[in-house]
Amino acid sequence: MPFVKIICTYLIITTLFFPEALACVIDGYTRDTIPIAKGAVIDVESQWNETKTVIETLISIEVDSTIKDSKKEILQLAVPGGVIPEEGIALIASGQDQFKLGDQVIVFSEKDFTHIIKNSAHFVRGDTTDIKLKGFTHYCYDSDTMVLACDQVSCESTVSWPRHSIPVTYYSSASFSTDQIEAIINSMETWNKVHSLFKGVYGGITEVNEVAPDGINVIRIADEGEIPDYQLARCYLWTNIEGEIFDADISLNPHYTWGVSGNSYESDIQNIVTHEFGHFIGLGDIYEPDESLYMPCMGGGNQENTMYGYGGRGEIKKRTLSLGDLVGIQSLYGCAVTIALDGDEEALNTIRHFINSFLARTEWGRNFINYYYEISPQLSKHFYTNPKMKHQAEKIIYSILPILEELSYF
Ligand SMILES: [Zn+2]
Repeated sequence: MPFVKIICTYLIITTLFFPEALACVIDGYTRDTIPIAKGAVIDVESQWNETKTVIETLISIEVDSTIKDSKKEILQLAVPGGVIPEEGIALIASGQDQFKLGDQVIVFSEKDFTHIIKNSAHFVRGDTTDIKLKGFTHYCYDSDTMVLACDQVSCESTVSWPRHSIPVTYYSSASFSTDQIEAIINSMETWNKVHSLFKGVYGGITEVNEVAPDGINVIRIADEGEIPDYQLARCYLWTNIEGEIFDADISLNPHYTWGVSGNSYESDIQNIVTHEFGHFIGLGDIYEPDESLYMPCMGGGNQENTMYGYGGRGEIKKRTLSLGDLVGIQSLYGCAVTIALDGDEEALNTIRHFINSFLARTEWGRNFINYYYEISPQLSKHFYTNPKMKHQAEKIIYSILPILEELSYF
């Protein structure tokens, strides 16, 4: 059986000159991808690299059709990320799906790179108003249309930081200037400002400068050959089998100039790191309908979102979040009451006091608190997309506040 071995990870052609067209992908795929084959995954082998810092996966695909001819063959591709079930550990690299036996996949080719996507999302994508967590779509293609949607599948599990590890501390490597560090901190503050249960805290400069599940969440400059030239950055998420994140690292491509002023000839560090911090908290990329990684559940008008998968030099609009980003973070970490009250600290303190001094004292109260945390992210999402519903909830909460205050002293 003929083997075509295409190693995509770490295949780098170094060039010092970057035409603007190539400089516009953040951590996914360039726009000029060409699907070269589709087929089924027949073997998946995840393994640690030699230094046991990164998991890589070798995927074998039995090709059932190709664009040029329908000759049967096996393709093998190595991708960053994967799962080691015996150790209960998984690595998710942004812009890269995870694969299992039987997955229907499309292999894309670019000038210097070949990669593969499985068109169901492993994690929640930053999304538009008609977000559907279920019903991500498989793509298939025929020779006329290149890529088109076919059968519906359920979305797989979501990944997020468990509540007990929030706030999450992150560090910067020693490679950044004071201005760049300030920009990185501003990037996290943008996500911190959203009313949600997630908080990121800057822990200072660390000497640890590697992508590894070492408990040190580091923002760093990538090693030579770590990520392809056309990618600006990559986020690595380490999770357990339940999808709980326990480590996240972000690598910025050393071949780009990382500016802080948003001028037209540099990549703005705050702009791109805000996007990468979106991955850090568990969000995926979103795309526009004419792009290869688009899924119908993403809706349209996504270019304004921070989690839009392309960016360019001089761009600064990702420094601020759009509705899709807000819905995305709320679907993972929403605190519905906080949103309903627009963060009214005085009212929230009354509720916190009620929770601690009344609800938490009884078993049914503790059950209620757990139930609230379960439904809260979904509810938060609804509040963002349905202002009328949010307003109703706001009225109800304010009307019962005096009762909660009374009960707190009961
Ligand atoms: Zn991205």
